[in-house]
Amino acid sequence: MKIPLLMVFFTVSTVISQTTDEKQLKAIYDMALTDGKAYDWLNHLSNQIGGRLSGSVQAQQAVEYTKEQLDSLGLDRVWLQPVMVPKWVRGTPEFAYIETKPGITTNVAICALGGSVATPDGGIKAKVIEVNGIEDLEKLGNEKIKDKIVFFNRPMDPTQISTFSAYSGCVDQRYSGAAEAGKYGALGVIVRSMNLRIDDYPHTGSMSYGDTPVQNRIPAAAISTKAAELLSTTLKLNPAINFYFKQNCKQFDDVQSYNVIGELKGTTYPDEIMVVGGHLDSWDLGDGSHDDGAGVVQSMEVLRLMKANGYKPQRTIRVVLFMNEENGLRGGNKYAEVAKAKNETHIFALESDAGGFTPRGFSFDCSDADFEQVQGWKKLFEPYLIHMFLRGGSGADIGPLKDEGLVLAGLRPDSQRYFDHHHAENDTFEHVNKRELELGSATMASLIYLVDKYGFGIQKKVKG
Ligand SMILES: [Zn+2]
Repeated sequence: MKIPLLMVFFTVSTVISQTTDEKQLKAIYDMALTDGKAYDWLNHLSNQIGGRLSGSVQAQQAVEYTKEQLDSLGLDRVWLQPVMVPKWVRGTPEFAYIETKPGITTNVAICALGGSVATPDGGIKAKVIEVNGIEDLEKLGNEKIKDKIVFFNRPMDPTQISTFSAYSGCVDQRYSGAAEAGKYGALGVIVRSMNLRIDDYPHTGSMSYGDTPVQNRIPAAAISTKAAELLSTTLKLNPAINFYFKQNCKQFDDVQSYNVIGELKGTTYPDEIMVVGGHLDSWDLGDGSHDDGAGVVQSMEVLRLMKANGYKPQRTIRVVLFMNEENGLRGGNKYAEVAKAKNETHIFALESDAGGFTPRGFSFDCSDADFEQVQGWKKLFEPYLIHMFLRGGSGADIGPLKDEGLVLAGLRPDSQRYFDHHHAENDTFEHVNKRELELGSATMASLIYLVDKYGFGIQKKVKG
């Protein structure tokens, strides 16, 4: 094919203008994939430390370990930011069964929801009323709910391609189910696990009693999807069956903990801060490898890759490992509070908290003009098949930093398998793929490199 000379010229000039950024991204990806540290760090966090629920010994070990690792990178500054966090303890393993006739029982897998009260010492045995959501409670009223266990069984919607959307469509049952059912005199609630798969892992997660007085709080547990199906089928055959459950979880007073922070000072604009982070705490059932060990080690790796590549950022890059995202968001709130009190200027914050799966791109929470700018970078990510740039939410921990000027972003990995593991016993190291994890680190480091190089428009440079 004969190519017109003009087209050759354009092609060549485009290549030349892109070449520095392309080369820089290639160097970042190459290093992450051949000489990465993220997987080793995750191995330690998951297998040597384990689940890191706020206020636990493991959460404190994770603070010490990540601080020590950041100290070893030769950053300009590494420090701990104190924050008081809630301490909720699961206690001995929960126990539950379906009783179809006196003495005829089938054990089922449950776990207490985070923040729930315990059952009485002898457990709770009662008739069950199955509902499809909080909106059903009002229709049923006191008469049908009083002295029963309310079973919230609305499944995640499998037709949603983003499993996070399916999660959003159900999570109100878990978060507010007990507070709402308690108003109608229920004795306890059982919530179908937020899982698209039918299996036997119950998935925990945070719940809240809102302003329910302490004496009126009823226990809440998640039931595995397999057991939820069994309970529902059994109830259709005989609505008069009993359900029994026992849990002895407990809420203690708040305890001292920390966000872990490391920083590379900017050479030209040291007062312009870019944050990259994930949350250091996790639920207690698994070892929190996907949620959010992956985000923690990927964020640490961003600074390590910069340092190891000899890159000197113009702007200040801070890695922030937030404490207590899962059951309080105290770390995220504390970081934003201190940043505001010190009148720091943040121009960008990026969080990885959607699992360590194959990255697909980013979602951005920003102005039209800033989104147009980042879309100009999309083609640089095409060779890595990581160029899905969307508008949308970023991450819970960086949310409190939000103001008009700041660009927030979240790494968006493939979400199809995430809820197989989320907040469950099988959120473990062997379910994280090394290359997928490393591609995430490289993708985050690449975006940080581009923001560092180009900034986001002059108006933010003067913002306080
Ligand atoms: Zn998370």
